[in-house]
Amino acid sequence: MQIDGACHCGAISFTAEADPSRVMVCHCADCQVLSGAPFRAVVAVPIEGFRLRGQPKSYIKVAQSGNRRAQVFCPECGTPLYATAPENPTSVVIRLGCVTQKAQLKPAAQIWAHSAMPWLPQLQEVPASPEQQGYLPPKA
Ligand SMILES: [Zn+2]
Ligand SMILES: [Zn+2]
Repeated sequence: MQIDGACHCGAISFTAEADPSRVMVCHCADCQVLSGAPFRAVVAVPIEGFRLRGQPKSYIKVAQSGNRRAQVFCPECGTPLYATAPENPTSVVIRLGCVTQKAQLKPAAQIWAHSAMPWLPQLQEVPASPEQQGYLPPKA
């Protein structure tokens, strides 16, 4: 399917051809920090169908294995956009949060489950409000 997305400020946008079965959740500690969220959801797409508009920045993450990954983000608003190989990339791993069609992209797999937040399975039971009403302010 054709997907598109943009960062929060709109300086960077993209389109891609995505296979909806290539959607994944990663619970690793790096993804938690780099995404600013309890886990990261991504869709891997071939680089051939990926079109980028704008000038993003990248941060090179070096894994314990020595593997290098470019973590690409908007230099204006900081939105994480995708990760790719720093040299000769063949695919782009797009962050689902900035994809317009994310509601249709249900994850097919989860990895690094051993570092997943222990409360994730209970999220269904947490009181939910359709909008901001019901938010509990910090106690004084
Ligand atoms: Zn931006
Ligand atoms: Zn990860």
